[in-house]
Amino acid sequence: MRIAIGQLWQETNTLNLLPTTRADFEAFGIFEGTQLIDRFAETNELGGFIQTLRAWPEQPEIVGLMRFAAWPSGPVTSSMFTMLMDGMVDALERVGKIDAVLLALHGSMVAECEPDVEGHLLARIRQLIGPNIPLVATLDLHANVTQRMVDNADVLPLYHTAPHVDVMSTGKRGAKALRRLLDGARPVTAFRKIPMVVPAERANTQDPDSFSFGVRKTLESWERNPFVLSAGLATVQPWLDIPELGSAVLVTTTHDAPPGWAETSCANLAKEVWTHRRDYLPTLVDIADAVRAAHQQPDGLTVISDSADATTSGSTGDSTAVLSELVKYAWPRPALVTLVGPETVAEAKRLGVGSEATMTLGATRNPRDFRPLTLPVKIANIFDAKFILSGHLAEKLPIDMGRCAVLVHRGVHIVVTSRSGPHFAPQLFQTAGLAPFAAAVLIAKSPCGFRAAYAERARQIFVVKAPGCAPSDFWKQPFKRIPRPLWPWDELP
Ligand SMILES: [Zn+2]
Repeated sequence: MRIAIGQLWQETNTLNLLPTTRADFEAFGIFEGTQLIDRFAETNELGGFIQTLRAWPEQPEIVGLMRFAAWPSGPVTSSMFTMLMDGMVDALERVGKIDAVLLALHGSMVAECEPDVEGHLLARIRQLIGPNIPLVATLDLHANVTQRMVDNADVLPLYHTAPHVDVMSTGKRGAKALRRLLDGARPVTAFRKIPMVVPAERANTQDPDSFSFGVRKTLESWERNPFVLSAGLATVQPWLDIPELGSAVLVTTTHDAPPGWAETSCANLAKEVWTHRRDYLPTLVDIADAVRAAHQQPDGLTVISDSADATTSGSTGDSTAVLSELVKYAWPRPALVTLVGPETVAEAKRLGVGSEATMTLGATRNPRDFRPLTLPVKIANIFDAKFILSGHLAEKLPIDMGRCAVLVHRGVHIVVTSRSGPHFAPQLFQTAGLAPFAAAVLIAKSPCGFRAAYAERARQIFVVKAPGCAPSDFWKQPFKRIPRPLWPWDELP
């Protein structure tokens, strides 16, 4: 038995005007064939696939297709879109006869020429393999699930968690569903779009006080039924100005499940989520108030989530909004903040470690939303941000954010990276030679996922109201292509 596996991953943000190019995919790593099996056997969904397939008694041959991944940013260029689609389809044609296809997708990739990249890919693969070869594709909880995706895949298992701490186990669940299909189960899918899009900040499935916690428990209990192949809620990446945008519930059972079970369960959960839509609206704090509260806290760590410039949500990462407030104070213990700024890193390299200079920081990638800040700084470190990320989004995921610099201004340590990446991760600060959990305050450019690393260890956490490509009040942005009516743009009965 031969099972083909591959990955196509990016969370697109259409408010970010920087296109995602071939160079962005190459920077995050493009792998093919046996390379992807060798490199990702312990990483994320591919690792979940590989480990599960290797444990099957008949030892199927695992056939690597392509792994295309880029860090969240603006829409994928049309030429790169063509390369991604052709790359995956050509790889599938090249490997010859296969018995099944297992893909790790995100579900919210948008190209300049195609708003539903994953739907397009699944349709092309289905056309190639025909109706009888099982096709299972895993999705992020922030996927925008479309009818075309549902029509062309047999099962679409979704992450159950945000922060995403079940990335690898979702791969395992995908492989398990595939096993059932190969054993003769025929999938019956119920799919409901909910005309709503919600902010990410409060959608914390790991917080027992959150509505999302109960949803996760329900989905997990459903999947314990032997006749359920997959059950998920996609609350969608909200910063997508595309047709068919909306949350979705997706329930797939085997053909011998109780009649109507998938449809009824799906409809009931969709109704419950709709009823609780206002539970997702976050309470945001003014930047000045959050920074003052951090400064007044004599010990312990304060984490400030700058969710509007979350690089994990596809924002540009060059906001100085919180930094501008941090530099108004002297910090007896370090204040840690990040920026994406390749030009600043290059300038710091030219000046050299130990030198002092007045530098202009930020707002190079998104001058529409941000203002540059000019500051006297000391260049404290130049380093390569290469580390292995585990926690939110990742299980042993290699990260390389390029050459980076640490600039210091009165106790404020500014980690400037050449490329975007997880600008919340403790590992980023540690690789920079800093101690994130011993800091006075740390700015996490992440709306919710940062909590996986900091919730247990922070003395206080604030989510601030700030500018950027990933604001929680996204409905105030000029969206033109979304379907209407859609909550919270519109009030619906
Ligand atoms: Zn996500």
